Amino acid sequence: MSTPTRITHLIGGQSWTGTAERTSPVFNPATGEQTGVLDLASTELVGEVVATAKAAWPGWADTSLARRTQVLFAFRQLLDARKEEIAALITAEHGKVLSDALGEVTRGLEVAEFACGIPHLLRGGFSENASTNVDVYSMRQSLGVVAVISPFNFPAMVPMWFIPIAIACGNAVVLKPSEKDPSAAIAIAALWKEAGLPDGIMSVVNGDKESVDALLTHPDVKAVSFVGSTPIAQYVYETGTTHGKRVQALGGAKNHMLVLPDADLDLAADAAVNAGFGSAGERCMAISALVAVEPIADELIEKIKDRMGKLRTGDGSKGCDMGPLVTKAHRDKVASYVEAGVSEGATLVVDGRDDDFDGGDGGFFLGPTLFDRVGRDMSIYRDEIFGPVLSVLRVRSYDEGLELINSNPYGNGTAIFTNDGGAARRFQHSVEVGMVGVNVPIPVPVSYYSFGGWKNSLFGDAHAHGMEGVSFFTRGKVVTSRWLDPSHGGINLGFPQNT
Ligand code: NAD
Repeated sequence: MSTPTRITHLIGGQSWTGTAERTSPVFNPATGEQTGVLDLASTELVGEVVATAKAAWPGWADTSLARRTQVLFAFRQLLDARKEEIAALITAEHGKVLSDALGEVTRGLEVAEFACGIPHLLRGGFSENASTNVDVYSMRQSLGVVAVISPFNFPAMVPMWFIPIAIACGNAVVLKPSEKDPSAAIAIAALWKEAGLPDGIMSVVNGDKESVDALLTHPDVKAVSFVGSTPIAQYVYETGTTHGKRVQALGGAKNHMLVLPDADLDLAADAAVNAGFGSAGERCMAISALVAVEPIADELIEKIKDRMGKLRTGDGSKGCDMGPLVTKAHRDKVASYVEAGVSEGATLVVDGRDDDFDGGDGGFFLGPTLFDRVGRDMSIYRDEIFGPVLSVLRVRSYDEGLELINSNPYGNGTAIFTNDGGAARRFQHSVEVGMVGVNVPIPVPVSYYSFGGWKNSLFGDAHAHGMEGVSFFTRGKVVTSRWLDPSHGGINLGFPQNT
């Protein structure tokens, strides 16, 4: 067993050289081996990082759009060139298979590409002669220091939902990645310096609740983008807004896939397996509840079962289909839900606890698991399990399926599988969910649209990236301007009116 590598903060463009009072272990989930020891930031250190960012911000905010865009293009090139290395870091700490890790880097890269268009995205409006000899125009300006706090499940993509846009808009960013798999985000943050970004505009502090609280309460942090579980998202939203910050806090999910009797059942079975078990179910857009409109449930379950039998679970760096769960504690928690499903009366069709795994004996593995006849009161339906457990709920009609989905407290993603365009249109209109797929199981919007759920899946108004991202990371200003020609117009104490 090799000695765990020290993983530390990135402050003012340099790796931190101090001594941490507290640290946290980082594991390779496929072997169970501790590979890293992560420095956790104290409140004081977070204060120092914010001060460094605040000092760097005015220079970057005043940097021309042309120069900022050059840095963004350079960053985009560097990330593209290093994407395999970053993917390997993700697999080594998160566990997801390499192709999946590469996919998430590519989706993050798309946001950098979107941000390269910042001169166009920040264009204001201009109204000549809004009043006689008066012009009115608008501009958007940066906020200052902004914090990004990210979850373990997309260690590269989720930080990238926010950072390129925040930087392009002229802000200074402090990232607090997940303490479970921080290395990919730190490696990406280091690329910004190489791309020519001034020191202090992109920093990383590693930590847990202490550093999150320090960011949420620091008066010089102007905005917080958070992604994680619903209880923490709600806490972050309430604490951040109480301290006067702009907050977007994306939370947990329970995503339903509604399959109508006229659907292509092979397509639906493929989609259910891909979206249920990809990344071991540790995706906020994973399908965890399959709602089958009778009479197709038996046939669909047989097709899903066949496909599940061909999946290989094991070490994600060695060409398996599905990797381990992120930690031993999380693996045990997900396995306890399998136990709960059985005792609550659901039919266990495929038991992932019985699988043979293609990985180390100490790996945090659990195979794909399928339940049928799941009831809406069971914990396997109510809770976000965040593991490779797919529940089938049988309903008698489209209306019953829609009512089930709309009654759920989460509203992140959903999908309908059907060959009936009218039914799909009705669904996309009526479903109370932020992201909807039509014969597409994981409808993650492209970077120039915005990503975000409804209800308990998002606290705050702004979704991530797209124009909502640009608006979140800037504040608007409107100028009303008159250049006198040739002389002044005299004193008038009345309220300005347009004439
Ligand atoms: P988490 O809520 O445990 O952690 C998220 C972040 O919050 C991490 O940086 C963590 O260090 C920090 N944190 C943890 N406990 C905290 C506390 N008590 N106080 C302050 N900060 C705290 O989430 P996770 O387990 O890392 O990620 C999985 C969750 O994220 C799932 O619920 C998933 O649905 C959700 N998620 C949502 C989206 C989305 O777009 N809605 C995307 C990805 C993940």
